[in-house]
Amino acid sequence: LELNLVAIFHGREGFGGLLLVLQDVSAIRRLERMRSEFVANVSHELKTPIAAVKGFAETLLGGAVNDPETARSFLKIIFDESERLNRLIGDILELSKVESRRIPLQFSPIEMSSFISDTVEFIAAQAHRKNIRMDMKVDQGIYVEADEDRLRQIMMNLLSNGINYTPDGGRVSISVEPIVKKAPHNDAAEGEDDDYIRIKISDTGIGIPKKDLPRIFERFYRVDKARSRSSGGTGLGLSIVKHLVELHKGTITVESTVGVGSTFIIELPVLH
Ligand code: ADP
Repeated sequence: LELNLVAIFHGREGFGGLLLVLQDVSAIRRLERMRSEFVANVSHELKTPIAAVKGFAETLLGGAVNDPETARSFLKIIFDESERLNRLIGDILELSKVESRRIPLQFSPIEMSSFISDTVEFIAAQAHRKNIRMDMKVDQGIYVEADEDRLRQIMMNLLSNGINYTPDGGRVSISVEPIVKKAPHNDAAEGEDDDYIRIKISDTGIGIPKKDLPRIFERFYRVDKARSRSSGGTGLGLSIVKHLVELHKGTITVESTVGVGSTFIIELPVLH
């Protein structure tokens, strides 16, 4: 709680007073703290690849350039770290857009079985490289109103995580089913807001420890930093996904068992 002196009144004949405002500032303080933590995280994340680029470039300039083999391997590191910077900046900008809700969604009806087949095709090469089988279980004729590009972005993110965090020879599966949920308020028109679709993306991967589960949608939160880094992760994918799902008035949850696999569950209202 914070007490603020807003005004002092001086009236005639000695009449006067103070206007004091007592307000709960804990929410404001929390937001401020989160913002400065985010800035600190961003700086740290950007500094790491920049330091690598600078260090390896310096070593090259200092003479390493004369040994072709060393030069090649250092240049490869510089190239990879620049790509990483690119991805980071792209994701930071994307996150800031979705957080401030500055993205107009273009809703249109999407038929889920053809949508999922197309999405799986986009990611098939990545799965193939790790010999990971992709299964889909989607009946024809299930529709949802969504922004197609954004829904694609959500799916690609979760599928590519599924592939990244699953050992070679594993499996990633997708299922879509219609569900009915009780509308939270009865002001919805009869039978309108109750229809949802449930999308499940499961993998047979490394899983997520129980204690980390509540935090994985936080910005830059990673269970294993080194592993995320080596697979090219920025630690922002799931935060972006969660915001995108919420922009569709949907929810995302996760269930996971270490060493067995993870399942991400998205529920989206059919109509908007
Ligand atoms: P990253 O770029 O690190 O993959 P994300 O925001 O996509 O960032 O995910 C955050 C963290 O959640 C990951 O670093 C990883 O530890 C964990 N994670 C996400 N998806 C999975 C999955 N399918 N299986 C196991 N761990 C996962």
